[in-house]
Amino acid sequence: LAAIDAAEPSIQAFLQVSRDQALQQADDFDARRQSGDVDGLPELAGVPIAVKDMIVTKGIATTAASKILEGWIPPYDATVVRKLKHAGMPILGKTNLDEFAQGSSTEHSAYQTTHNPWDTSRVPGGSGGGSASAVAAFEAPLALGTDTGGSIRQPGALTGTVGVKPTYGGVSRFGAIAMASSLDQIGPVSRTVLDAALLHEVIGGYDERDSTSIPKPLGKLADAAREGQRQDLHGMRVGLVKEIGGEGFQPGVEARFREAVSALEAMGAEVVEVSCPHFSYSLGAYYIIMPSEVSSNLARYDGMRYGLRVMPPEGKAQTAANMMAATREQGFGDEVKRRIILGTYALSAGYYDAWYGSAQKVRTLIIRDFAQAFEQVDVLVSPTSPSTAFKFGEKMDDPLTMYLNDVATIPANLAGVPAMSIPAGLSDDGLPVGFQFFAPQMKDEVMYKPAAALE
Ligand code: GLN
Repeated sequence: LAAIDAAEPSIQAFLQVSRDQALQQADDFDARRQSGDVDGLPELAGVPIAVKDMIVTKGIATTAASKILEGWIPPYDATVVRKLKHAGMPILGKTNLDEFAQGSSTEHSAYQTTHNPWDTSRVPGGSGGGSASAVAAFEAPLALGTDTGGSIRQPGALTGTVGVKPTYGGVSRFGAIAMASSLDQIGPVSRTVLDAALLHEVIGGYDERDSTSIPKPLGKLADAAREGQRQDLHGMRVGLVKEIGGEGFQPGVEARFREAVSALEAMGAEVVEVSCPHFSYSLGAYYIIMPSEVSSNLARYDGMRYGLRVMPPEGKAQTAANMMAATREQGFGDEVKRRIILGTYALSAGYYDAWYGSAQKVRTLIIRDFAQAFEQVDVLVSPTSPSTAFKFGEKMDDPLTMYLNDVATIPANLAGVPAMSIPAGLSDDGLPVGFQFFAPQMKDEVMYKPAAALE
């Protein structure tokens, strides 16, 4: 808590520090340990953690960084939060994000701007810039994020932290505020690969309250990370994704990427180039599927059920419909409105097959690309993000350049496969570069080994 007090004036990673609750949880954990009730406690027991404000916490305000949820206090905990509490991990507070996790810089938060600890005139990435900055600035040893198109991994790359998007269905989404339900996953943010594996084991596993949860046990993630620390990768086949990189990628990012690949080879891995021909269409498919799901999921913010309610202006009929319109007009920011409009359009009668239908077909082709690639190799690798951290305001006026940040991360969400970003040194501008691994569905452990070997 003292580290948070010292860093927050310049970083502003937290929307709220839940000081009293954190201290209470720490006391409760101490009491439990002293009474000898430690059976089944994980290695991370007692370690505090920050939680992205996209994940609901009982009794602690949860906003998704939107005005429309201002004042809402959830009456329940997300499954992952319940698991953290059970593991004796005190929750330090709620971290900043782009409103409803929509963005790549955290500048779309309705409340505050989070700064990158490496250079406070630059963004920490997004949408999970708060969690990434909190960990990078040593305000928290661990954090949770949500990743719909890269919101754990891209901020990880830009802040020099580790970020993992687990297999879709591997970590419960119960209590994660829905952005695009078929793409969203909760995952770890940490400073080391082993820490991420240990946290992944705490939060992961089947949950009957999430209908997309996979009823199978997780792999041995921490064991795989520990094995990787021995830096022997003989027998491992690594595929370079041919379609990620080149035009639009900063030379310093590509240079660090190639060096990391050579390091994997030096540890015994066999490296080959692999083609995933439909990855070039993933950004296009994502920006149809994601807004479609956003427009549907965000329909619930109607001024009736949660947070903000704005009555129609004087002179207008005081009807429920006008109240909803006034609430949504004031409660949502521009980026959220843009996506609701895009999604509503893509789903409307007459356009549905042309837009949403085509995007779903592309999604199937991307799933096949991954399946074919994983017949040849154990893991796929690429840079996480085309550039290092950019300046505030640089991409705010042009949504398309902002969207291009996600070009390397989105394929994993479309296919449901696990992926992670780890730090791979600094670019020529002195800023962190991220290196990404992809693994086959439900084989998350496969990427932890080379990741731990490389870090
Ligand atoms: N930056 C991406 C977007 O704006 C990803 C968001 C996310 O993963 N939540 O949609």
